[in-house]
Amino acid sequence: MQTICVYCAASTKIKPQYFEATARLGKILADAELSVVFGGGSSGLMGQLADSILAAGGKITGIIPQFMCDENWHHDELTELIVVETMHERKQKMAMMADAVIALPGGCGTLEELLEVITWKQLGIFTKPIVIVNMDGYYDDLIAMLHRAVEEQFMRDEHKRMWEVVSTPEEVLSAIQNSDSWDATARSFAAI
Ligand code: AMP
Repeated sequence: MQTICVYCAASTKIKPQYFEATARLGKILADAELSVVFGGGSSGLMGQLADSILAAGGKITGIIPQFMCDENWHHDELTELIVVETMHERKQKMAMMADAVIALPGGCGTLEELLEVITWKQLGIFTKPIVIVNMDGYYDDLIAMLHRAVEEQFMRDEHKRMWEVVSTPEEVLSAIQNSDSWDATARSFAAI
């Protein structure tokens, strides 16, 4: 395991606890000598993540669409900044570089990134661990929705193995290590 993809909020208006936890995650990843790939933004939890990783001597790569750079939304002190054309290209590159994915709390951008990578895992085109950091129960409703999709047979029971849920950044690395293996044969679960 070498590169971890982190999805997280751009908002600056959220509770300080979210920033504190993100700073802890950044240090944990840097101390474990894992490189990180993220959306490349300088605001909100994205900025906090990058600052804490860089302060701890870690490596972080941002992948950001040109139009966001034109708006000056990118973090300009990253180890590497990869500028792409589209949001789709950004998300695909982030997932392709990742040996595991972590979702911190976030808005619709983060929710969309998380649901997309879960969808790709269901289809067997992404097979790596996915860890949801459910701080303060932020993701309770989304997890309940996913469980309802299983109960009502929009998804299979096996699909609940696609993600791990933890409450704190300190649990993330063991959740990645203990994550159930998943490979392209999982595609058979998607059969009607
Ligand atoms: P959200 O979870 O809605 O705050 O969005 C986080 C994700 O949305 C990022 O990974 C980006 O895809 C995008 N995004 C929204 N606002 C920004 C911003 N100011 N800078 C960089 N990315 C942003």
